[in-house]
Amino acid sequence: MQSALIVVQGLGMMALIVITFGIIHAMHWPRWIRHVVLGVLFGLGAIFSMLQPVQLSPGVYADTRNLFVGFSGAFIGPIGAVVTYVIAAAFRIYLGGSGAMIGVPSMFIAMAIGILWGLPRLRPSVMTIGHFALMGVTFSVTLLLGLFILKGDVWSNYLFVLPFIALFNVGGSVFFGMLFERERRSARRERRLTEEAEHDPLTAAYNRRGLDKLYTTAMFSQSTFGRGLLLIDLDHFKSINDTLGHAFGDEVLRATTTAIQSCIRGGDVLARIGGEEFVVLLPNVSSDDARKIAERIRVAIRKVAGTDNVTITASVGLSYWQHGGRTLESALHDADTSMYEAKRQGRDRTVFQDASVA
Ligand code: GH3
Ligand code: MG
Ligand code: MG
Repeated sequence: MQSALIVVQGLGMMALIVITFGIIHAMHWPRWIRHVVLGVLFGLGAIFSMLQPVQLSPGVYADTRNLFVGFSGAFIGPIGAVVTYVIAAAFRIYLGGSGAMIGVPSMFIAMAIGILWGLPRLRPSVMTIGHFALMGVTFSVTLLLGLFILKGDVWSNYLFVLPFIALFNVGGSVFFGMLFERERRSARRERRLTEEAEHDPLTAAYNRRGLDKLYTTAMFSQSTFGRGLLLIDLDHFKSINDTLGHAFGDEVLRATTTAIQSCIRGGDVLARIGGEEFVVLLPNVSSDDARKIAERIRVAIRKVAGTDNVTITASVGLSYWQHGGRTLESALHDADTSMYEAKRQGRDRTVFQDASVA
């Protein structure tokens, strides 16, 4: 009865981990952070299972820690698996006793097997029930260690329950493997959809929606110098399209994106907000540097491949401000005014407007 309760608790714990796994997987955190957090989660699962071992026969206890360590490798990847292993192994050593002699190496083997299952090259593209059952069988390899270490009556008891533990591993792998796989797929789809919604498919730069979001984030960031916003509009783009074709125009837009990207830094944001209109947000920049970057971008665009008769050029409007928050609309409005001034003055130039000295 006691054992049955423990198994039910273990299942509940695993179910909780499946749900949390889905939530963390869908987060837009850097990949390695997601993997470390998930590794900790699985490590806690392994600890929980070690605290609640089931007695299978006199002297023989079993728990699902190796499943947690193995799953970590299979569903998170090497970083997550190592984190889970370190946590679980440290806890096993902390518990003490001679069992750690089997426990620690057997978790290591489970980790290695799990990582192999998770390798994109080895992993079947669609995991079926059969694959998960096989996964459970491979995790059970770790159980063989016990046969070398246990002695006497405990050894024969162990031999007797071995097939049952293996069967439990297979069942657990199939059931939870399917759940993890489902969570992982839906989390990936969710992440991809959000990413698609914020990017321009032609150039892979952010779109207007992405710019809105990153602008808000940037306004909360520390800015020691000030902030700049550039509006970059290609000159006579309609006639480039009309004479050289739409496909050529698309290629120019892609090359322009690459050219702009080569002039900006990691924290800066590039978005394509209209047909041939780009915005660059410089969240922390001095007024001088903002001008220099604007000019550098203008010159870089001139190097985008046109034809013998056509040079690709752009007019750049720069809006700069030092203090306080400012709406994107207001910054865009000023940059737009400057950009039109650049067009009026004859195109292929940068016009600068500094709100902090106005
Ligand atoms: P100006 O120097 O005054 O900016 O002249 P312009 O011709 O660049 O100005 P306008 O805004 O009239 O033209 C923009 C053109 O951009 C119109 C359209 O043919 C083209 N365009 C808009 N989106 C795309 C796109 O996704 N691909 C391509 N190839 N062309 C596009
Ligand atoms: Mg335009
Ligand atoms: Mg234009």
